[in-house]
Amino acid sequence: MSHFEYKNGELHAESASLRQIAERFGTPCYVYSRAALTAAYRAFDAAFAGHDHLVCYAVKANSNLAVLNLFARLGSGFDIVSGGELQRVLGAGGDPAKVVFSGVGKSAEEMREALAAGILCFNVESEAELARLSRVAARAGGTAAVSLRVNPDVDPRTHPYIATGLRQNKFGVPYRDALDLYRRARELPNIAISGIGCHIGSQLTDVTPFVAALDRILELADRLQADGIALAHVDIGGGLGIRYHDESPPRVEDYASALAPRLGRRALKLLLEPGRVLVGHAGVLLTRVEYLKRGPEKNFAVVDAAMNDLMRPALYDAWHDVLPVSRAGRSGGAPYEIVGPVCESGDFLARGRTLELREAELLAVMAAGAYGMSMSSNYNTRPRAAEVMVDGGDTYLVRERETVAQLLARETILP
Ligand SMILES: *Cc1c(COP(=O)(O)O)cnc(C)c1O
Repeated sequence: MSHFEYKNGELHAESASLRQIAERFGTPCYVYSRAALTAAYRAFDAAFAGHDHLVCYAVKANSNLAVLNLFARLGSGFDIVSGGELQRVLGAGGDPAKVVFSGVGKSAEEMREALAAGILCFNVESEAELARLSRVAARAGGTAAVSLRVNPDVDPRTHPYIATGLRQNKFGVPYRDALDLYRRARELPNIAISGIGCHIGSQLTDVTPFVAALDRILELADRLQADGIALAHVDIGGGLGIRYHDESPPRVEDYASALAPRLGRRALKLLLEPGRVLVGHAGVLLTRVEYLKRGPEKNFAVVDAAMNDLMRPALYDAWHDVLPVSRAGRSGGAPYEIVGPVCESGDFLARGRTLELREAELLAVMAAGAYGMSMSSNYNTRPRAAEVMVDGGDTYLVRERETVAQLLARETILP
């Protein structure tokens, strides 16, 4: 069920009119649905109900405090990749005891902050990181719980920029080095081994690579167990894809029933780090048509949102559906390139879409809840968009639109 539907010819988020939201908060504007976020979280969590598990929402997919707070209220844990994301989780009321810390480049300062907060586990990605963490924990007089992120060398069959579990990728500890590194970790002071994990990529539309990766990781877990290194959890990472266009990703139920039974009788808690699948369909980007422009080969709709607001089309050639907010009196249409005002030919939101467009009308870029606002920038000195959360018929501004004055305030000229 979609939480963004037409009512009387006008696109709504739950019971709130997107036209009214645009009039009140301006464009470009991200709009999220509380009901959609809640339903996605509950469906995912319920799919794993038969197995001891913890959902750790991947904060980088959408890190707005209101989104994090909603997931925290639903009982979610969090997967963070920076000290900044840790502060967001704490600021949103998240439980630090349900936080895992991923990433290849954790600084000593970030390690100290995470230790002080009392996170569940560090997902360690190299021998050098393990050594640094041991030193930081010793100096702080604490113990760091550790899970190695192992690179299972499994092809996720996704866009190369979001494939992370292949041998040539920068992520994780090489599979063949993992056992040795666990043996070394066991000898390190202030390190407590707690788990093993992987994260093989994003926007996967098939369960096969997940199953292959989990089996590889469980094989290692069994060898560690035989070595007397007991683990408390196995972390399969995130990466479950969503339908943007014509993809057919597995349903969460099928994903869960392909994975959970493979743990068998092992006393391992299953950790999951879903990002996109929890937030992708829960948000749209509202934008207004500035100009319609006829070129010698193509028609352009220049809109007020750009690649700085939604980077996925420019970065991954990603496809997002684009819908008119008002569909009254539409018939036919012409193919349009939906482009932004940024000075780059890569600045497009959608290409070759058949639409009947008018100047000044509103468009909704669909399924923009994941890796939209969180990847936005100020390129071309464009203040970042406002973010609004709908709850039934109520609308809440959950991030103010930036102002140019705020952008300039951090800069100074020479005396
Ligand atoms: C990005 C990321 C995720 C979430 O990926 P999705 O494709 O959004 O589910 C999970 N774990 C790690 C380590 C990540 O880097």
